[in-house]
Amino acid sequence: MTTLEQAWLAGIFEGEGSVAIAGSFDGIRRGTPSFIIAMTDKDVIDKVYKIIGNGYIYKVKQNKPSGEPGKLVYRFVINSNPALNLMRNLLPLLGIRRQAQIKMILNNFPDGCHKRGPGKKIECKSCHKTVTEYDVTYYLVDDITESICHNCDR
Ligand SMILES: [Zn+2]
Repeated sequence: MTTLEQAWLAGIFEGEGSVAIAGSFDGIRRGTPSFIIAMTDKDVIDKVYKIIGNGYIYKVKQNKPSGEPGKLVYRFVINSNPALNLMRNLLPLLGIRRQAQIKMILNNFPDGCHKRGPGKKIECKSCHKTVTEYDVTYYLVDDITESICHNCDR
């Protein structure tokens, strides 16, 4: 990643990104850290993927509150240690709110990601099904934490 690409990516992340711990967010070093950028412009998400050279792109269609079909959203996700490295890399370029979110994640993984034990049961905020903690994603968006199961979260 060039310095220019790093700066571009930090700007995109500042506006359209989020970080999360999939699996666990109770202050314990478990779960999987995730770095996410979502937007409707496919070419921008493709560029994000190309620069990072790792991760996944999901297509997500979210209905409007009225029930009408919404726009197709392209969602770039990278997990685990590569996500932590990326967060560390972009940290100095980000604003206060994003820095706080990333520091919260990094503090949970001072020596990286490790194998996990059996998970506890958690309720999905969207479908209200009970799943294990590894089957939910905890989103830290606008300082609100929400647990969404992977079935609803795609
Ligand atoms: Zn669900």
